[in-house]
Amino acid sequence: MNAPNPLIDRFGRVHTYLRVSVTDRCNFRCVYCMPEDGMAWMPKADILSYEEIARLVGVFVGLGVRRVRLTGGEPLVRADLELLVEALGRLPGLDDLTMTTNGHRLAGCAERLYAAGMRRVNVSLDSLNPERFAALTRGGRLDKVLDGLDAARAAGMRPVKVNAVILRGENDDEVLPLVEHFSNTAESTVLRFIEYMPFEARWHQSVPARELRAKISARYTLDRHEESLGDGPAVYWRVRETGLIVGFISPLSEKFCSTCNRLRLMADGRLRTCLSDDGTPSLLAMLREGADDATLARAVRAMVLGKREGHGCMEEGGTPFEGVMTRVGG
Ligand code: SAM
Ligand code: SF4
Repeated sequence: MNAPNPLIDRFGRVHTYLRVSVTDRCNFRCVYCMPEDGMAWMPKADILSYEEIARLVGVFVGLGVRRVRLTGGEPLVRADLELLVEALGRLPGLDDLTMTTNGHRLAGCAERLYAAGMRRVNVSLDSLNPERFAALTRGGRLDKVLDGLDAARAAGMRPVKVNAVILRGENDDEVLPLVEHFSNTAESTVLRFIEYMPFEARWHQSVPARELRAKISARYTLDRHEESLGDGPAVYWRVRETGLIVGFISPLSEKFCSTCNRLRLMADGRLRTCLSDDGTPSLLAMLREGADDATLARAVRAMVLGKREGHGCMEEGGTPFEGVMTRVGG
């Protein structure tokens, strides 16, 4: 089902993908995502209810959005997430509903989420060393996340995508161990390496995808994998020896702004049209003041028309992204 009048911006980009941050709260404090001493959480009254999210997502679907990903903060710290999954699953025209999670609570709810209609999940995991994992996440337990991955597979979710943010000098020696580990479940797992994006300042150093591929190629043969695995920015390769599909999401070294098809609805109802831009206004006030769907749709179109051409962050220097990642949702 194609929208007759899709969500198009000044640069001709059509927007079919929406990330929905259901909360800014998180049970981790990942070093690249959140300040060490945490943050002042948004007051609960100021975040979208499940009914409001479902209503807004319905408006986006009416404008041609076909894929929705739930994110956070940590989506699984919000109670009864499967109720939202069920409500979104009922929206005609929504083809794909997925989630990005840190996986810590996934083992306890993977089956319920699958039954509610969630067929795929992305799990973030940056280290296979329990101590380092705890240090990078400031308190997370690796065994719980690995159990969460197993539970997602056991529930029938396919493929499980594992996202690893690689930081120079902090976990860049884990690239090969991660490839090796997930090669054991190559038929049900896709491993993706995400370049660190500096928010507000460059607290860490990113490692460009070409360097990560070179590390992997020192031990394995990588063949380009052209088959589409979603219409996101990842570029996929296949490890010939093990069959594992490995993706690279490289916003700095292989910038993909010109083909960006995504929008981000934050927990407070602000629509973030570009990952780098903290400036877009909120839909929540309009919604609570009684705006009808047509009015909301016009507001969304106007916001999308104001979308930036792209971010100005580079491998070295440039302008960092604005805001705090845990509020934005990745
Ligand atoms: N809590 C969930 C999780 O960790 O998967 C969902 C929210 S998290 C903000 C979404 C994704 O953004 C995660 O894969 C995380 O690793 C990634 N991320 C967070 N901060 C980042 C940064 N500064 N640069 C690149 N990726 C980042
Ligand atoms: Fe929480 Fe995810 Fe950010 Fe880690 S990356 S602090 S798990 S929101």
